[in-house]
Amino acid sequence: MNFDLGEEHRILRDTVREFAEKEIMPYGKEYDESGEYPWDILKKAAKLGYVAADIPEEYGGAGMDYLGCAIIAEEFARADSSIGSAVLTASLGCPMVRYFGTDEQKERYLPPVVKGETPSAIAITEPDAGSDVQAIKTRADKVDGGWKLNGTKTFITNGSISDWVVILAKTDPNAGYRGISAFLVETDWEGYEARRIKKMGLNCHDTAEIYLKDVFVPEDYLIGQENFGFYQLMRFFNESRVFVGAVQLGMAVGAYERALEYAKQRKAFGRPLIDHQAIQFKLADMWKDIEAARLLVYKSAWLIDQGKANPALSSAAKLFASEAAVKVTYEALQIFGGYGYSKEYDIERFYRDVRVGTIYEGTSEIQRLIIARVLAGKLKF
Ligand SMILES: Cc1cc2nc3c(=O)[nH]c(=O)nc-3n(C[C@H](O)[C@H](O)[C@H](O)COP(=O)(O)OP(=O)(O)OC[C@H]3O[C@@H](n4cnc5c(N)ncnc54)[C@H](O)[C@@H]3O)c2cc1C
Repeated sequence: MNFDLGEEHRILRDTVREFAEKEIMPYGKEYDESGEYPWDILKKAAKLGYVAADIPEEYGGAGMDYLGCAIIAEEFARADSSIGSAVLTASLGCPMVRYFGTDEQKERYLPPVVKGETPSAIAITEPDAGSDVQAIKTRADKVDGGWKLNGTKTFITNGSISDWVVILAKTDPNAGYRGISAFLVETDWEGYEARRIKKMGLNCHDTAEIYLKDVFVPEDYLIGQENFGFYQLMRFFNESRVFVGAVQLGMAVGAYERALEYAKQRKAFGRPLIDHQAIQFKLADMWKDIEAARLLVYKSAWLIDQGKANPALSSAAKLFASEAAVKVTYEALQIFGGYGYSKEYDIERFYRDVRVGTIYEGTSEIQRLIIARVLAGKLKF
């Protein structure tokens, strides 16, 4: 067993950190307040190969392993919880195309994301179907030369700014999860409309409700196999949950480091905060949770790189890292006292941004269900 990152990943961490501290960290407050998507930072990150870094070189990507992607995610979110995750989630639609798309689809849709020309998106959730994916109602009805899509999707990251979106729709409405397929849809096609949703955090993210009215999707825009969308999605989640775990880990590290620094500077009762045992205990617990989250995230990323993705471990990484990150930012804000509650410091933003981690990409309750199913032998992989 070797817990050493290795030279390649250590150099990656150092160079990504340098970029993130210079190009992301100073701008968090500004983007949080304006609510604008950080296009300029996306482009800069893309130039260095940090956007959708796992995309193979033949499609313009860095061809990075998943551990490398997790390191980038951690460093970006550490630098700033809002901008970091906005840039990282530009890759959201790519895995479905990369793993199940045709060569033409990959050649056409992956390079613009890698270059930072457009983010991508994946639309699963609907107003009446979130955790229960098989309950989606968006329909894809067969017509001459393709499909007609009708339905509403909600909470879709990048739904109103991406050039293209992967849409999950029912191709056989009577077959439950065996009747779902994935489609590539360009957002300027007739019948596609999107409206941005306001949220408590991640203000510079685009999160949208999407309306599909008789959107014609040509035959060759089906991704993978008809009625296999749910199975494709499970493969997608094995990786995306580790990625989200890495983002949440980064937010926890960012909040912890800021609180540690503050605890050394700020004095109460004639001594720095860090000399008070109650504060020391908080910091010790925060550090311990971060170390444990990192082990889970890195191990599940490493398993993906070995071709041995483990859905229970991917879920555990996402579950543990996101719950730990919520706890860590809570305590970090507490250490800042009244200043933590003010807009003067980054902590209140981290505290708001981190909260969604236990909800998106499958809630904590759903992650526990998946782990339990694997333990009971009901979910094989
Ligand atoms: C900022 C943001 C970005 C998002 N981005 C995307 C995106 O890009 N694409 C996309 O498709 N979706 C996206 N989502 C949607 C997200 O994935 C869903 O919100 C999430 O899956 C939960 O679904 P829901 O909100 O419908 O909650 P529900 O499924 O209605 O669940 C409500 C509560 O009930 C619990 N619950 C549900 N079923 C069970 C059960 N069987 N046992 C125990 N508890 C249960 C849940 O854990 C939760 O606590 C995003 C959401 C947010 C907030």
